[in-house]
Amino acid sequence: MVQISEVKGNSRENRTAAHTHIKGLGLRSDGTAEKSAAGFIGQTAAREACGVVVDLIRAKKMAGRAVLLAGGPGTGKTALALAVSQELGTKVPFCPIVGSEIYSTEVKKTEALMENFRRAIGLRVRETKEVYEGEVTELTPEESENPLGGYGRTISHLLIGLKSYRGTKKLRLDPSIYEAIQKERVTVGDVIYIEANTGAVKRVGRSDAYATEFDLEAEEYVPIPKGDVHKKKEIVQDVTLHDLDVANARPQGGQDIMSMMGQLMKPKKTEITDKLRQEINKVVNRYIDQGVAELVPGVLFIDEVHMLDIECFTYLNRALESTISPIVILASNRGKCTIRGTEDIVAAHGVPPDLLARLLIIPTNAYDPEEVKMIIRLRARTENLSLSEAALEKISEHGVRISLRYALQLLTPASILSRVNGRKEIDVSDVAECEDLFIDARRSANIVSHADTFIS
Ligand code: ATP
Repeated sequence: MVQISEVKGNSRENRTAAHTHIKGLGLRSDGTAEKSAAGFIGQTAAREACGVVVDLIRAKKMAGRAVLLAGGPGTGKTALALAVSQELGTKVPFCPIVGSEIYSTEVKKTEALMENFRRAIGLRVRETKEVYEGEVTELTPEESENPLGGYGRTISHLLIGLKSYRGTKKLRLDPSIYEAIQKERVTVGDVIYIEANTGAVKRVGRSDAYATEFDLEAEEYVPIPKGDVHKKKEIVQDVTLHDLDVANARPQGGQDIMSMMGQLMKPKKTEITDKLRQEINKVVNRYIDQGVAELVPGVLFIDEVHMLDIECFTYLNRALESTISPIVILASNRGKCTIRGTEDIVAAHGVPPDLLARLLIIPTNAYDPEEVKMIIRLRARTENLSLSEAALEKISEHGVRISLRYALQLLTPASILSRVNGRKEIDVSDVAECEDLFIDARRSANIVSHADTFIS
């Protein structure tokens, strides 16, 4: 059986690459956390608290509020926020940023914040199209004499046989479809659909793969009936408001949702103005009212929230009040510190009291050595790396003594060294060599401060 997966080009996905093993919060139906489930190990109290947040979101009781995850580096704050978005559904946007990211010379900071808010708000658009769908049994171009005389022959029609569970139907189609068929590299045995109005051709897969579909919930392949030759098909497309902003940032921006969606295919960068966003909101709202589109609020995760300044906090407060707001999850590993942009106002996590009052605060705790080892083993398995028990022991020691982050970062270079040394498995000696090549932040700071004393 064949599994069909989608390949997307999205550089932001690199940001979540370290968390590919996380599949959800791993909670039982009564809301309690399994010690190890859905890729999550330990941190049970925080996972259970996040489960309550998911319930609040589902019950629409989170409006105007946000979550703060407070805990040391590498205690799984990003992983928790990602898991919350996964619990909310498969196509729910997750937009992770770091507080310092919004400062640039080109874009105003509140503008940058707004952009990320819109990246975290999804839109599901449903469109009903009339299509011919089935397995190709025959592809015969019909030729005729060139009508302009001369020697060449032209294709006047294309005969396509399409087999569905209702039987086989022969379609005689316009020659323009022939080009589309060639472009999609359709051959006999493929399952395709042809849109009746536009003549667009889409290759769905091979007939053997088509007979089954991967059911994510049940985690098994279930048979689906083969297509209907002629039917109305509901096409569902998921985009974010930011996708629509980017795609329509041009003078001739569309006036209806379908042309706005059409612009997605031809990305071109110009300025996204407030006016454009308002226009897009108007169209989106109209289509939501008509039932064509549906908002899918996602998760905006802001790490190192103390890097935001007082203006940003004011903006955040206001944005949380808006009717279309994503779920905002903040994270901090600071205790009390000065609120950026003020002279000397000290507050918990550098967050002003009016915003603090809106927050549900969830602490994350450091991992014990056994948990560190389990996380490293899980990560190695996800990255397809094998390592000896002694090497795992050594990397885990670093995880406990220095940080989980540092330990996890050693995995890939250690695997490269093991390969260079002709081994299939990471050995303790590879880890030791790696430690000398790549040092942790504390050691590097020490080296440089000693160098300072030499200079002075
Ligand atoms: P920081 O905010 O300091 O950058 P963080 O608290 O957000 O760190 P993460 O980035 O979530 O920490 O965790 C570091 C790595 O460890 C990630 O690859 C993450 O997926 C993994 N990880 C953390 N906690 C767990 C856990 N409980 N179970 C499985 N993997 C975990």
